[in-house]
Amino acid sequence: MLIDTHAHLSTPHYDKDRQEVLARGFEKGLAGYVEIGAVFGFAGNEKARELAESDARVAFTVGLHPHDARLMNDAEWARLEELALRHPKAVGIGETGLDYFYDHSPPEMQRAALVRHIDLARRAKKPLVIHDRDAHEDVFGILEAEGAFDGPGEFHCFSGDWAFARRVIDKGWMIALGGIVTFPKADELHYIARRAPLESLLIETDSPYLTPVPHRGKRNEPWMVRLVAERIAELRFMDVEALIAATGDNARRFFGLDAALGLGRAGG
Ligand SMILES: [Zn+2]
Ligand SMILES: [Zn+2]
Repeated sequence: MLIDTHAHLSTPHYDKDRQEVLARGFEKGLAGYVEIGAVFGFAGNEKARELAESDARVAFTVGLHPHDARLMNDAEWARLEELALRHPKAVGIGETGLDYFYDHSPPEMQRAALVRHIDLARRAKKPLVIHDRDAHEDVFGILEAEGAFDGPGEFHCFSGDWAFARRVIDKGWMIALGGIVTFPKADELHYIARRAPLESLLIETDSPYLTPVPHRGKRNEPWMVRLVAERIAELRFMDVEALIAATGDNARRFFGLDAALGLGRAGG
């Protein structure tokens, strides 16, 4: 099953054609789709919830993006917790993490928000979706100190080297690869795509960002996750349908999609 495990259709980039973009994804073979709620502040979570409620094949995650960590407040966090703990289609916590590249929120606020997400993931028994940009050691250190590796998680849009990937995989966590793996100069990521165990891989688009080759410069869309799959399959010298099947199974298991979306149900 072809599944885009990470995209942001709730963002204004899709205000004019959100439902068409989603429909195009399913026409082009997507079996499931995970909307990442944590973008553009707390409001993004409600938009993600609405999108998930609009289509049986859509699940969502809840969180507050590290860029927005400075917006953390108890009232909105309480609502986010309610969604995480009670909504049947809320399948993950995040994206959360650290972004030292953009620094839109002070690092100490990002770190505090990450700790809060780890605690919520533990209570909700849901996987963590981690965003890590130029912050590998700090992210890993906090995950370890807070016991996050006792539960499931992924580094989305993985950007470390092979040694770091190995450490993440050794913790039983997942590596998610997106459009960057299609870029010609992404040597380290190509190496990771070849070497990572198949059972540790997820695929994603991070739409509207990081559009894969040959569509770079245009807005990304969930159906383009197939281009990511094609490139990884090529790097691993394996059949693309086998790669799609394996990563699809990983996504279903990781996010519990069979229960949330009714995947695999006869006639469903
Ligand atoms: Zn991210
Ligand atoms: Zn994202």
